[in-house]
Amino acid sequence: MKYSFILKSQLTKKMCYLKSKGLYPFFKEVSSAQTDIAFFGGKKVLMFGSNNYLGLNNHPKIKKAAQDAISKYGTSCTGSRFMNGTLDLHKELEDELKDFLNQEAVIVFPTGFQVNSGVIPAIASKGDRIFIDELNHASIFDGCKMSYAKRIKYKHSDMKDLAKKLELSPDDDTKNLIVTDGVFSMDGDIAKLDEIIKIGKTKNAITMVDCAHAIGVIGKHGSGTASHFGVSKEVDLIGGTFSKSLASLGGFVAGDADMIDYLSHASRSFMFSASLPPASTASALAALKIIRNDSSYTERLWENTHYAIEQMRIHGLDIGNTETPIIPIYIRSSLKTFEVAKQLFESGIYVNPVVAPAVNDSDSLLRFSLTSSHTKEQILFAVVEIARIIEQVTKQVNGSTYTY
Ligand SMILES: *Cc1c(COP(=O)(O)O)cnc(C)c1O
Repeated sequence: MKYSFILKSQLTKKMCYLKSKGLYPFFKEVSSAQTDIAFFGGKKVLMFGSNNYLGLNNHPKIKKAAQDAISKYGTSCTGSRFMNGTLDLHKELEDELKDFLNQEAVIVFPTGFQVNSGVIPAIASKGDRIFIDELNHASIFDGCKMSYAKRIKYKHSDMKDLAKKLELSPDDDTKNLIVTDGVFSMDGDIAKLDEIIKIGKTKNAITMVDCAHAIGVIGKHGSGTASHFGVSKEVDLIGGTFSKSLASLGGFVAGDADMIDYLSHASRSFMFSASLPPASTASALAALKIIRNDSSYTERLWENTHYAIEQMRIHGLDIGNTETPIIPIYIRSSLKTFEVAKQLFESGIYVNPVVAPAVNDSDSLLRFSLTSSHTKEQILFAVVEIARIIEQVTKQVNGSTYTY
């Protein structure tokens, strides 16, 4: 390779090592729709590694809506929102979302990542401060970097730490912005949004919650973290994605009409990127209508979640403080986590290994996530297998000279 410094990097060395041991788990090729099951080539597995919380990914009505949108509008919008790329369908989706989230206005972005990388720098700039939970999503960190504001991390969901750090901000005309995930994507706990808003008020902070993993899961009809805490009218901005519960692609930000109007003229990732394609727009809209009218998806998801958490505790798995369908199973060593994920895949269960640098090595985990389409039998089978394989791998690793 021409760029030898890349070959020498730590990351490359780790990838080579994992590949040589047959442990490399990434970029596996899926060859089917993902529901409670999925196919990787000819191999069928139980799927406990998707963000398809409501199991809507293969829903006939949503697929039909996407097909109809392609028939009518074609496959692309061929332009950005503020030029030729705004469809009547985008406005319809924004109106539906506005009602759902109980906000004055909404704009739809091409992805959830672009919501954070566009909205945060449009609000905060040099001289301002952004307070972020240390476990926030990568797109929030990137949005902060792009803003040139000072980034101040507080300990995960530690409200005393947030209050202490916010307290130090000067009382001048610079801005304070607080941004948090609504449900944390790895640990599965819910942000203390009611407290964050209260603390924020002491220093006139703007508050933003990213409900990517909260939509479809918590709050009224699955409308997210602000609804869960009854603070929809107090939080300044609600961001989110269609790529998880809503079985599509794309993101949104919601808030008061003036703020959203401003963002639609100031958010660079909104203005300088082609708009959400017709099929994705129509499928997000169809999914939203389904969850607003039929709570059975969310109910089944929660039944499955309670059952899985109960069974995991009975089987002695270390699952931390999760409160949602995202269940971290802590293995606490990167290498062991890779080995367990590999053996689980071989025995027909897909879960995602989450290792350093995404988390500290001692916090390495399997990210087990549920959908409303799983059955209790599937869940119990997976829990028993996970417990068995963790025990087996622990014995293997303890008896060997594994390094990483
Ligand atoms: C997944 C996720 C995103 C990214 O959303 P995409 O629409 O897939 O780009 C942003 N923020 C959080 C908190 C997420 O979990």
